[in-house]
Amino acid sequence: MNITGEMLIGQSAVRGTEGALRAINPATNEKIGPDFGAGGTSEVERACVLAQQAFDTYRETTPEQRAQFLEEIANGILALGPALIERASQESGLPTARLEGERGRTVGQLRLFASVVRSGQYLTATIDPALPERTPPRSDLRLRKIAIGPVAVFGASNFPLAFSVAGGDTAAALAAGCPVVVKAHSAHPGTSELVGRVIQQAVASCKLPEGVFSLIIGNGNVVGQALVSHPAIKAVGFTGSRQGGLALMRAAAQRREPIPVYAEMSSINPMFLLPHALAARATQIGSAFVDSLTMGVGQFCTNPGLVIGLAGDHLVQFQEAAQKALQAKAAGTMLTPGIHSAYVDGVERMGKIAGVDTLGHGLAATAPCAAQAVLFSTDAATFLATEQLEDEIFGPSSLIVACRNEEEVLAVAEHLAGQLTATLQIENDDHAFARKLLPTLERKAGRILVNGYPTGVEVSHAMVHGGPFPATSDSRSTSVGASAIDRFVRPVCYQDIPAGLLPPALQEDNPLNLARTVNGELRLA
Ligand code: NAP
Repeated sequence: MNITGEMLIGQSAVRGTEGALRAINPATNEKIGPDFGAGGTSEVERACVLAQQAFDTYRETTPEQRAQFLEEIANGILALGPALIERASQESGLPTARLEGERGRTVGQLRLFASVVRSGQYLTATIDPALPERTPPRSDLRLRKIAIGPVAVFGASNFPLAFSVAGGDTAAALAAGCPVVVKAHSAHPGTSELVGRVIQQAVASCKLPEGVFSLIIGNGNVVGQALVSHPAIKAVGFTGSRQGGLALMRAAAQRREPIPVYAEMSSINPMFLLPHALAARATQIGSAFVDSLTMGVGQFCTNPGLVIGLAGDHLVQFQEAAQKALQAKAAGTMLTPGIHSAYVDGVERMGKIAGVDTLGHGLAATAPCAAQAVLFSTDAATFLATEQLEDEIFGPSSLIVACRNEEEVLAVAEHLAGQLTATLQIENDDHAFARKLLPTLERKAGRILVNGYPTGVEVSHAMVHGGPFPATSDSRSTSVGASAIDRFVRPVCYQDIPAGLLPPALQEDNPLNLARTVNGELRLA
């Protein structure tokens, strides 16, 4: 499949006329062809109108039709073979093995959502039969969830496959019955086009309306803003900077009809080292922590950017093990020159904050966009008094906070803003302390882990990848896992609707064979 530099608007390929955009290989800082024509508001308008036109037909496709569509996209991505991985690697600096893993995850997500659509549990089909003899009589009430409407998805720089054109948000929205208009991340337009063409072909081969999918390429301030402001768009999925997420939230709130924005922004993913765990495993935890910190050059939203422990010999032992492991870590290429310079600035700022010490470095950076890993340390009093220390430095940098006693550990936990994850390193004898921390961590984080490391997010039914602000803009949902579909549906109640007009999910003979709640009791299919 050739990369042409065009956008995909429904079944058309269109060259944008608002200037040219080129990918940059961050490993060399060289431009990669071809030129992409940047789109403008007219392409956004066309894509959104097509999406609106497609909506009523697409949302009422059968579960089997939508599941097959998702599987067709998954198969098409695999059929692109090494060309997709090579292009994604050139555009992101990510190594082939990592991208192959990410492709597996992307395909797995699409297949997971195919199974979610087939099972139909997300519809929450619920029936309260009429009670005509009751005083007052009760009407026949039936609830199902319907697709929310066309969704705008912003591709993420740090997951060119799994959080981009056919990534989690797109898979969840398409599964729910929502047409999708993707704004490609400007860092990987070629990867975006390749995957976009797979979805475009799947739309055609599954005989779906063309507006089910479009891919826009262009400047965020132009096409991104126009997309979020377009009246046809009913929800937004985003992963990126806090600044970008907040700008989209503002644009969505200022619309005549405000819409939900599901933005994943910044998280420093605290890891708490409880005393008995430190006593038993300080060296092992120190070295495993550095592996997690430097994985993917620290460019995971779940990167462990904060470590909290009780000051003392065991914490020193942990720090020494972490320093030693860090010294052997090579500087890795970051995703874009912009992300690299933001990292360098962030590390420089952190190093200048009074009360913060630099504990150690990874190997020095020599290539363009290569990031040297850094470990900082401070005490709880400085951390609690310095707001900046909670800012995410996107990349392989972390801060260790030494606390004088349990109360300070609890105070640091209470002080934290919303997080995607919180990790506890514990032994059995730490359970009493962990029990004190857990209620706070539940209020702060979307996922709590014990004796693991936060990087590496399983795509499954029980996964939550979300959390209170600023981790995300809406703590009530997840962007990874089966329940991500809930973002893109809303409940409708049908009151006294004649049998012949009811949707299949709510018909008396249960043609979709769904598990349904009838009169408050779950009835399995
Ligand atoms: P970004 O600057 O927020 O951009 C993400 C996407 O949103 C891009 O498509 C961008 O378009 C668009 N966009 C940005 N600002 C916008 C606005 N005001 N209106 C409309 N669209 C807008 O994120 P990034 O380029 O991926 O990385 C920048 C920084 O974000 C990183 O250094 C890091 O700090 C943070 N980041 C965090 C995570 C995380 O998971 N925590 C992930 C990725 C990035 P254009 O590119 O065309 O402008």
